[in-house]
Formats: sequence, structure tokens, C-alpha cells
Amino acid sequence: MEKMKGKNWSALKEGYLFVVSIDDKEAIVATLNDFVAQTGIKAGSIIGIGAVNQVTLKFYEPENGEYKEKVFTEQLEMTNLTGNIALLNGEPLLHLHITLGRGDYTALAGHLEEAIVSGACELYVQEIRGEVKKDVHPENGLNIYTF
Ligand code: FE
Repeated sequence: MEKMKGKNWSALKEGYLFVVSIDDKEAIVATLNDFVAQTGIKAGSIIGIGAVNQVTLKFYEPENGEYKEKVFTEQLEMTNLTGNIALLNGEPLLHLHITLGRGDYTALAGHLEEAIVSGACELYVQEIRGEVKKDVHPENGLNIYTF
């Protein structure tokens, strides 16, 4: 296993699988973008757990093609982060969704814009080699796989 370290993250690499830890109090999406840039991963999948104390969620409204956004500032269990990495216009693009547990054991969920670690953030990133591309859909404006 190869040990790796970047800006606000550390990782273990075994083949095409990375075990990633994001430092406490750091921004998950910004750090994952740095991880992807440093490792050169162009496509793959991401899963993770941890805890955050601030999150910006988005919700897609198909009727107007826009995302509404909301910030939550409270301690939350990151019960699941799920996402993918693909190439958009030649650059790796992260698409992340998140489910968060509140202090009253209800859940918040949505498209993840950004979140701040409060405790730990433990991720597995599975790389896939080859061209996995997305393009902007001409009608709904979403980034859609183009195989
Ligand atoms: Fe999404």
C-alpha cells in the first residue's frame, strides 16, 4: 500500500482503490477536488461516512432547471456520502450526494455543494481507468453520461 498526503487529506492507495481521510474542520468538496487533481483520477466512485457541522445542500427543480440552495449549521452525522467522478470538457467533475443524521435522529439529504468536517471524514474512492465522460444535456442543462 502506498501512503499519500495532500492539502487537508491523507490516503492509502491499493491498486485502483484509495482510502481517504479528510482533516477535521476542512471543506469536503474542495478537499476532494484537490485529491482528484493530485492523484490524476479522471473517473470513479466515492462512498463515505463521517460528521459535519455545516453543509450546503442543493435541490434540483426540473420545472425551471434550477437548483435551490440551503445552508444548515448544526452537528450532523454523515451517514452516507455517495458520488461519482467523470470527465466534463476534459476536466474531472465530482457529483456528490449526501445523507445526514440530525440530533433528533431524522435525516437531511440532497445534492452536496459543500460541507465542513466536524470530527472525521472517511472515504473510499474507487478509480476506473478509461474515458468516462459527461456532457451538458442540451435540454435540461444537467451533466449527463455520454457513452
Ligand atoms: Fe446531484
